[in-house]
Amino acid sequence: MQALTNRAKQVERQPMSFLERLYLVAIFKGMLITFRHIFKKKPTINYPEKKRPFSPVFRGLHILNRDAEGRENCTACGLCAVACPAEAITMEAAERQEGEEGLYKEEKYAAKYEINMLRCIFCGLCEDACPKDAIYLSETFAPADYQRKQFIYNKQELLIPHPVKEPEAYKKALGNRVPREKINPAI
Ligand code: SF4
Ligand code: SF4
Repeated sequence: MQALTNRAKQVERQPMSFLERLYLVAIFKGMLITFRHIFKKKPTINYPEKKRPFSPVFRGLHILNRDAEGRENCTACGLCAVACPAEAITMEAAERQEGEEGLYKEEKYAAKYEINMLRCIFCGLCEDACPKDAIYLSETFAPADYQRKQFIYNKQELLIPHPVKEPEAYKKALGNRVPREKINPAI
């Protein structure tokens, strides 16, 4: 077969000596390296018991937001899906019915909302595009899995816990984030 470059070199394999065939020297060298590392500071941590502090600009798993009364903020306008460079977001809009004012903040809401985390590049453009403070990227990872379909997160998986019904879980999910409606009540 003709070579594309002249960088390939023929390597001559030397026969192993008696000592090399015993492998004792190689094992001893390996053990010595292992022993030296026992006393060094470990670069790894016992995740998930221990967690590294995140950078303040870290962008993780998405959260669909609610207002202080627990109503879903999303009005299914589709701006996040249009802004998404990875086309990871899909949704179906529905009209709020009479009696559902406590569930949805706006007259239109997302009956279905999905994000494909395998497509997502965690750029945060969906959060920037949202006029309703309805989506943000939290400090949580998408957990590992063996099946691709597990990475398509539906609305129930993305929704933040109810602030009135589950205040502790809501606080935990919110973390250090200040809801934008507190900064700008007009949202
Ligand atoms: S973070 Fe970026 S890639 Fe991921 S869903 Fe939002 S806009 Fe799309
Ligand atoms: S998350 Fe925001 S941008 Fe996306 S559909 Fe809902 S309201 Fe619109």
